[in-house]
Amino acid sequence: MDNVSLDKVPIGAMKILSCYHEVQQILAGKMPVPRTMEFFLSNVCNHACAGCHSRYMHKNEDRFLDFDTMKDVVNDFAELGVEGVEISGGGEPLVYPQIIQAIAFMRGKGLKVGMFSNGTLLTDELSEFLVQNLLFLRIAFDAGTAGTYKKIHGRDDFETLIKNLETLVRYKSKIGGEKKASSERRQTKAQFGTATIGAKYLVSTKNWQELAKAAELARETGLDYLQFKALRASKFTLDDETLKQAEEVAQQARDLSDKNYQVFGSLEKTRPIGRCFLNPIHPVIDAKGDMYLCAFFHHRKDTHKIGNIYEKSFPEIWYSERHYEAFRSTRPKECAVFDCPFHEAAVLARAWIVQNEKHLEFI
Ligand code: SF4
Repeated sequence: MDNVSLDKVPIGAMKILSCYHEVQQILAGKMPVPRTMEFFLSNVCNHACAGCHSRYMHKNEDRFLDFDTMKDVVNDFAELGVEGVEISGGGEPLVYPQIIQAIAFMRGKGLKVGMFSNGTLLTDELSEFLVQNLLFLRIAFDAGTAGTYKKIHGRDDFETLIKNLETLVRYKSKIGGEKKASSERRQTKAQFGTATIGAKYLVSTKNWQELAKAAELARETGLDYLQFKALRASKFTLDDETLKQAEEVAQQARDLSDKNYQVFGSLEKTRPIGRCFLNPIHPVIDAKGDMYLCAFFHHRKDTHKIGNIYEKSFPEIWYSERHYEAFRSTRPKECAVFDCPFHEAAVLARAWIVQNEKHLEFI
């Protein structure tokens, strides 16, 4: 058994247990349908964040995923039984010219949609639409003051961000309240369907001191949660000594959690236990149409790329020999560069699914 305690596996990683059948298929040498597809609709961004890996990767190569191609791929997702689409980047998703139409199309196909954004381009119309149609919206917060935000994001947009978040929260409580009222009138179970709105804080040498301050601000703004993690593989990555000090600030941030607001995350480096066997659950398609095993491909594009959706259909790529070959060739050392959520999920999946210690077929 692995030398990582199950007690240390975070709650989020427990979701892997819902992928029991997918993992069984992988163990049987078959490619399961992905549970979540991650989409980079845009390589273009209106910000220039310090330490952003995408920014360096897409330099001089601005691009949006073609809208009709996106629709073809989403049709394939729906037919195969993909459940969720995560729109991230790449670039900033709200720069994508047909972002509303794209999300509406995905929703029309019965897919659940979540999005990561820097939140600075939100309008009233967009905010209302996103709150109604997304399962979650996670916004890059990254600072507790306007000065630090500008140093990290390269733009003087902190006030705009806070104002936009307040607008989102206002729509969320308005729409949530309306749904609750109509549900109560019908005497049926409440169907809130409104997005959870959270903040994402990437901890680096530039902002670790402000984590607790930002967590407080996010709570005052009315967000549902703040999630933090450490920036890796960058000249702004915290050294071990600073990491210890940052951990104290992180605890102050966690202590702000209450029943309506959660602060969670870890600054500890995760590490893979053996070769990855979970990546088929959450692959990525980028704005150039390239499909990768997972979102952590920046440092190994050639070995992680399994095809391009402008050249072949999604099922052709997914069930190709190239995919199986790339799946078999992942290297733990390369996976260890970033804090992949599957590192911790794999501990649980090995103990409960691969070794089947808990007999999940029986309740
Ligand atoms: S980084 Fe490695 S462990 Fe994480 S999903 Fe990708 S291949 Fe798997």
